[in-house]
Amino acid sequence: MNFDRLHTLYHQPLFDLISRSRAVHLEHWRGKSVQRCSLLSIKTGGCSEDCAYCAQSAHYSTGIEREDLLPLERILSAAKQARAQGATRFCMGAAWRGVHDGTDKFERVLETVREVSQLGMEVCVTLGQIGDDEAVKLKAAGVTAYNHNIDTSPDFYPRIVSTHTFQDRVDTIRAVQRSGMSVCSGGIIGMGESVDDRLHMLEILSEFDPQPESVPINCLMTMPGTPLADAPPVDIFDLVRLIAVARIAIPRARVRLAAGRTRITREGQAFCFFAGANSIFFGDKLLTAENPAATADVKLLRELGLRIDSHETRNCGPAGLVSR
Ligand code: SAM
Ligand code: SF4
Repeated sequence: MNFDRLHTLYHQPLFDLISRSRAVHLEHWRGKSVQRCSLLSIKTGGCSEDCAYCAQSAHYSTGIEREDLLPLERILSAAKQARAQGATRFCMGAAWRGVHDGTDKFERVLETVREVSQLGMEVCVTLGQIGDDEAVKLKAAGVTAYNHNIDTSPDFYPRIVSTHTFQDRVDTIRAVQRSGMSVCSGGIIGMGESVDDRLHMLEILSEFDPQPESVPINCLMTMPGTPLADAPPVDIFDLVRLIAVARIAIPRARVRLAAGRTRITREGQAFCFFAGANSIFFGDKLLTAENPAATADVKLLRELGLRIDSHETRNCGPAGLVSR
């Protein structure tokens, strides 16, 4: 969807926008559940890149302890625990610029994916830049989706990252698409970008062909020691508007209310679900950042009467997903 249309949508009165996004949501997702994804950092800190928001960049003193690639057994045990807590998608993130075929670390990732994919959850990885060879092998190993966020608009991107380019991000996404893996791609708001930057980001996401299967919308988690440590919180209505526009522009995507939920009230989160969000990161930790307690999330979703994606409902086919 082009920028002008996104701009018109975004700037209409809030309740008109929400009514429209709700209609699109019901058309495509009526009766479907909220997906719960669990996220594990499999390699933490010490990253060569200088992303201004990221606590894992080696360019900043953030107090994050570096950890090498976790052993397979630790990852498997975390994946089993996530499944036991109800996660239906398990995402593994690595603080790397990227990975290359033929390296020991890539072989270890492939082996990990083969094992985790036996557990019956969707498997998502976020490993930074990859090319065609890596994408094909990851898919063959059992990866369902590759996360690679474009994070913001092309114009704003150089203000937050200097060690790689926006085009590098897009090139990875294209390699993922060619391999047949699903693309999970979204961005961060609250880094000092304008509303137009956010809409340019949505323009690019919505014009990918095919559109991303999943679109995480992160609110900046301010990380001490990073250049964005003192950024003010995102206004809830700005977030709701962006989610609503994302729902309209990318109707079949899971729109994920991702990082930053600890700074959003329960009422604010409810508003986001109403506007079109239908996926959350679930579990007490998000890579290195805090996340609401899993029990609090289940309580909130139940109180709202939202269906929660679980192994039971996933496996019982259309009957389990009857519309309300
Ligand atoms: N290194 C890989 C990469 O850059 O794609 C994967 C890990 S990286 C931590 C994954 C995503 O987490 C980033 O693209 C960004 O959207 C999100 N993220 C990282 N730090 C964040 C923060 N402080 N607040 C909100 N989102 C953040
Ligand atoms: Fe590294 Fe990814 Fe963090 Fe950027 S966002 S510093 S690439 S871990």
